[in-house]
Amino acid sequence: MTSTLPAGDQGFLKHLNRAAMLDALRREGGLSRAELAARTGRTKVTVGSVVQDLLAEGWVHEGDLQQGTVGRPGRQLHLDGRHHVLFGAEVGVLGTRAVACTLTGQVLARAATTTPTGDPDSAAADLARLVRTLAEHPDVHGREVLGLGVAVPGPVAPDGASLLYAPNLGWPQLAFLDTLAPHLHAAGLTSLGRVRVLDNEANAAAFGEAYLPPGPSPAEPPGLLAYLSLGTGVGAGLVEGGRRVLRGAHGLAGELGHTVIQPGGLYCHCGNRGCVETLLGGWAIRASLGLNALEPLEAALLPRRREAAVQVTLGRAGEALGLLLVNLHHTLNPSDIVIGGALARLGGPLMDTALDFFTAHLARRRGQSPPVRVDVRPDSLYLPARGAAAQVLGRAIAAPGLAP
Ligand SMILES: [Zn+2]
Repeated sequence: MTSTLPAGDQGFLKHLNRAAMLDALRREGGLSRAELAARTGRTKVTVGSVVQDLLAEGWVHEGDLQQGTVGRPGRQLHLDGRHHVLFGAEVGVLGTRAVACTLTGQVLARAATTTPTGDPDSAAADLARLVRTLAEHPDVHGREVLGLGVAVPGPVAPDGASLLYAPNLGWPQLAFLDTLAPHLHAAGLTSLGRVRVLDNEANAAAFGEAYLPPGPSPAEPPGLLAYLSLGTGVGAGLVEGGRRVLRGAHGLAGELGHTVIQPGGLYCHCGNRGCVETLLGGWAIRASLGLNALEPLEAALLPRRREAAVQVTLGRAGEALGLLLVNLHHTLNPSDIVIGGALARLGGPLMDTALDFFTAHLARRRGQSPPVRVDVRPDSLYLPARGAAAQVLGRAIAAPGLAP
């Protein structure tokens, strides 16, 4: 595939060339210089010059000679995971999580708090402490920091400047990165790279899954990946073509938890009634079963899983999730649906009910339904933080002024 990046003046052109090559190597490690020239539509001279710079700066390393190629074998090129670090964090309702990642998406270190998140200032102080802990980790210390991405539990303005609201934290509109800055400074984190990203936690997780997937990159990125975040709240992140986050006009795209499925139903934290969250959200399940707000849902439900009330509540939540999947399929037609968040660990009555509902719906349709891959991820605790780190990489690679 050739790059479609526009041309510009010399300095900008250099950035574009560099971005195109780093992006090609991110998607397909092991390319030779000649293949890189073919993939990016650049001349071999341009590729040679840019690769030389990238080798010197530690972004790229050379591997083995290619085997089985016609003509003179080229030296394989890969992104280099040894010299840089990306920080990503998620401010959740029940705690904050942070990771340090390499350019290749490997998590070097992780850290978390497990107490409920308080006001913005104390959350920012907790986050700064976690990043400080990561920065001092022996596998992280000494690396060049590219930046910090922060994921938050609410919609974010399309320009990334502010969190619009966080109903499950009770926070108002707020430029959280500005709140965070003095805490990073106070924690001695004065050289955290040039990139700062603020995004919704489901958007961040979706971006990480599409842009920097764990394991080998697929030959083609997912056409449209939807990440469903099922935690205290319910939301979705949508990423098209492996890199473009769909945000809508005001940053509200993917706020599926507040789509209404029961007119006149229970009151939701957002102020409306009958939202999906009132049946499926972690807070609603806890309220319905009288569970302690601090204990992890999985641990609280395990000893009670055979109780009728638990079965009914989880079954109802599963139906709501099934409806959500069907409606998501028909409104946005994702190629891939990844389901994460604390509720994804519950399995059983909730997830089986939802997936059975979805599968039965597709089977009953007249005419063939397009295929959709559904992946339930019980190990999703750090996915939003890792995704926020991936957003830092996207921003660091992109030429100035171009979205990742
Ligand atoms: Zn709502």
